[in-house]
Amino acid sequence: MTTVDLPLLPLGRGSDPLSERGVECPGDLPPASDPDLVARARAAKEKLGERLFVLGHHYQRDEVIQFADVTGDSFKLARDAAARPDAEFIVFCGVHFMAESADILTGPDQKVVLPDLAAGCSMADMARIAQVERAWDALAEAGVQDVVVPVTYMNSSAAIKAFCGRNGGVVCTSSNAEVALDWAFEQKGEDTKVLFLPDQHLGRNTAVLKLGYSLDECVVWNPHKPNGGLTPEELAQARIILWKGHCSVHGRFAADVIDELRAKVPDLNVLVHPECQHEVVLKSDLVGSTEFIIKTIEEAPAGSSWAIGTELNLVQRLKNAHPDKNIMFLDRNVCYCSTMNRIDLPHLVWALENLAEGNLVNQIEVDPQTEADALVALQRMLDLPGKTHRD
Ligand code: SF4
Repeated sequence: MTTVDLPLLPLGRGSDPLSERGVECPGDLPPASDPDLVARARAAKEKLGERLFVLGHHYQRDEVIQFADVTGDSFKLARDAAARPDAEFIVFCGVHFMAESADILTGPDQKVVLPDLAAGCSMADMARIAQVERAWDALAEAGVQDVVVPVTYMNSSAAIKAFCGRNGGVVCTSSNAEVALDWAFEQKGEDTKVLFLPDQHLGRNTAVLKLGYSLDECVVWNPHKPNGGLTPEELAQARIILWKGHCSVHGRFAADVIDELRAKVPDLNVLVHPECQHEVVLKSDLVGSTEFIIKTIEEAPAGSSWAIGTELNLVQRLKNAHPDKNIMFLDRNVCYCSTMNRIDLPHLVWALENLAEGNLVNQIEVDPQTEADALVALQRMLDLPGKTHRD
């Protein structure tokens, strides 16, 4: 039998320089069975005191979230870190692109640490800078590049954000995608096209449901096909070129599950994230960012029923926090974000104890040129009119 030597990235060994993350787990982790993990994390945190600031993304496990000084979505957390310039170590319990964003926004003396470097994001990995540069060249050859404005979702590598900064584009979050797209479509006159990276679903849902473009005006750029799999005519007619990327968690939710649940649960409200597929969003009652989802459930009346299409850790936490409401997960199967879940208590303890002992581990550092270019695109987002930049 022939065996193929594949890089087993989920095991956290080796490296993948072409993806948004390098993967390496130096040192020995404490065993997950260690009954003292909570006490060890507390002790290390106490020892580091004000030098440490721990960020916890909403999709993290409870065992990790309990040690977060602040929780939130990726951009909010990066800004929270920037607002704590005296904190020497920013431990980001999230994924790689989030830690990069925190490094970009924090001061040069602040060190951003990701407890497990294998915690990448499959969506961010679907748009690699070499692929995007190739697509950009192909758009030039097709004669449309000069009217294309690149817009990238926050969930992308620093290199992609920098690409947008260099090429007149902007970063957006799931809260301000509509405003960012509106801005982008004004940049090159009435023929403007947008290249939306890397989440086709957020791009499509925003362009069609918020801005009124038709599905026919959206085309999908497949980076694994020559010229994205598109003809020059298709490119010429398109208004929005969607990168063929998606979230492996939100992409799982299916429209037929909504039908099944509605048949079983009277007066069900379906609340989903805009990273879900277009058909799912069309069948839902409400769509919005994780902050919107949290706020909606907080404000919902007691006794109301909700099926929620976002990451399971958050749905579970909302269910526990609101026992007076009937909250369910919008999927037949249990499905966490596997890369988010790489940040577990052993990794957190390992990182905190190393920092407390004076060993800087798993630092995420964006090179100065990439940082400067990415900041241009982030600043354009901050300058957008109206809506907030929260995720
Ligand atoms: S939930 Fe989706 S977008 Fe968020 S980190 Fe996981 S794979 Fe990436």
